[in-house]
Amino acid sequence: MKTRVADLDFELLIPYEQLEKRIREIAKQIGEDFEGRSPIIAGILTGSFLFVADLVKNLDIPVEVTFTKLASYFGGTASTRKIRDDFDLTIDIKGRHLILVEDIVDTGNTLHYLVDKLRVREPATITVCTLLLKPNAIEVSIEELKYVGFEIDNQFVVGYGLDYREQGRSLMGIYQRVG
Ligand code: 5GP
Repeated sequence: MKTRVADLDFELLIPYEQLEKRIREIAKQIGEDFEGRSPIIAGILTGSFLFVADLVKNLDIPVEVTFTKLASYFGGTASTRKIRDDFDLTIDIKGRHLILVEDIVDTGNTLHYLVDKLRVREPATITVCTLLLKPNAIEVSIEELKYVGFEIDNQFVVGYGLDYREQGRSLMGIYQRVG
């Protein structure tokens, strides 16, 4: 299936049914790993908003849900390696189990920056969950990365929360750039 977002063409890479199935598996795993604890799920906006919603719907442990907002692509199709901090976590995370939920890990710079920033607030643990990972793009390894939905090639993708020039977030599936 093909679609156009702004001035670029995309084709379907991962249909929503596959995302749903994998998210249920991840939720089950998190439920088992954090049984008896009540972690804080912290979504990294904007791209993770749909993933966070589907993930928490499938969790059978009590969680608190919050968000922080960072930006690094600024309307283009490649990481700028510059991170803009738009808004911070407002929950006190000291002594708590924190699960950071990201849409996609590309170079790893954004998560590295965020984990370093949050570690000084002394959470009990920090664990990272990402829907997508581009293993060939990683520049900084993230020890805390434990849950990965899908590994994809080094290609620009949109849909299911991910944008190109703020468009394409509502596509129900992951679409990769063609041409
Ligand atoms: P990193 O800091 O790991 O290089 O990049 C992480 C951020 O870059 C993601 O949270 C996301 O906002 C953006 N990003 C990375 N790859 C893609 C992509 O293929 N498509 C879109 N839309 N955003 C991406």
